[in-house]
Amino acid sequence: MKEFIPVASPIIDENEARAVYDVVKSGWISMGKKVIEFEKLACDYIGVKHAIAMNNGTSTLHSLLLALDIGPGDEVIVPTLTYISSVNVILYVGATPVFCDNNPNTFNVDLEHIKEKISKNTKAFMTVDMKGQPVDYDKFCSLSQETGIPFISDSAESYGAVYKGNKIGDQALAHSFSFFANKNITTGEGGMVTTNDSKLATKLRIIRNQGQEGRYNHTLLGQNYRMTDVLASIGIEQFKRIDNILDRKVLIAKNYDSAFDQIDQITVPFVPNYIHRPSWYLYSISMDNDIRYKLIENFKKKNIDYRISFPPVHIQPYYVNLYNYNENDFPNAFFSYSTFLDIPIWAEMNQKKVDYIINAVLEITSN
Ligand SMILES: *Cc1c(COP(=O)(O)O)cnc(C)c1O
Repeated sequence: MKEFIPVASPIIDENEARAVYDVVKSGWISMGKKVIEFEKLACDYIGVKHAIAMNNGTSTLHSLLLALDIGPGDEVIVPTLTYISSVNVILYVGATPVFCDNNPNTFNVDLEHIKEKISKNTKAFMTVDMKGQPVDYDKFCSLSQETGIPFISDSAESYGAVYKGNKIGDQALAHSFSFFANKNITTGEGGMVTTNDSKLATKLRIIRNQGQEGRYNHTLLGQNYRMTDVLASIGIEQFKRIDNILDRKVLIAKNYDSAFDQIDQITVPFVPNYIHRPSWYLYSISMDNDIRYKLIENFKKKNIDYRISFPPVHIQPYYVNLYNYNENDFPNAFFSYSTFLDIPIWAEMNQKKVDYIINAVLEITSN
């Protein structure tokens, strides 16, 4: 196959183009009716009271910390195995990120990882649904209730995932989603917070809009984190596709699972029982480093894309300068990072491509 196979590929077609055309023609391209409609659709889909759309999935996390009045002297517990923005936002508000490790089998944090980091300065803890696999929310919600510490979720990768029969988005105090181009559904750039807490929702809307409460009456130090109607109109079309996209990804994952399960050298993603539908943002196989190297070489030869996505945040140069951590400080995170490989999974991938990728893996591991 000469054709390049990317790791992710959004579905965008005439429907999105037409929606954008209509918004542009209407003359109202900044935040307006389309954003409200986009938010309403998310509330209905997830079954949550409030959805607040923003310009990306980093602004949403930043706004959440602002809304919770977190600042200098406060600590926020966060897994180190995450995308940089989960941690950057803690620095944006002047608070201190307190890193925790992850379960190497799921890439996610377990309750114990968070628990052991709680101090008298802890003002919030954050979990991340890595690769689109939800954490065990009930446990973290109980911890939040017992301790009174707010629990927020970086669900950037898990829109549409189902936890114990319910869509992700109303388990924690608040969830942050991203609609960046490589996510399951996309507006190019975009984000959203969902919550059942009405006071928090109101405050987030004020923060999103320059701290404005009533026209030109600024009661908070806000941001300009508004989403535009142009992007919301794309999001509305994308929302119509979500279940089709995720169901197709589940099927591809099943293909991969059954092909790789037999192979000793490869570990397939572990999906705990409480996850009724992963959102398969990425499909990651784990293996020894030398096999990973060979596999990557074979993928390159065969024009198949792959990712060894982000290193844990504690070994990112900026954070090493700040805190001087090394790899061994969070051994599970470093182990996960050193052994996994994300392979292509996207809804419009046909069976021929899936089989081609499976063969590329088998070629390396079967001899
Ligand atoms: C994509 C992503 C984000 C941030 O999203 P942007 O919309 O790019 O700002 C945050 N956290 C995680 C885990 C992500 O995967």
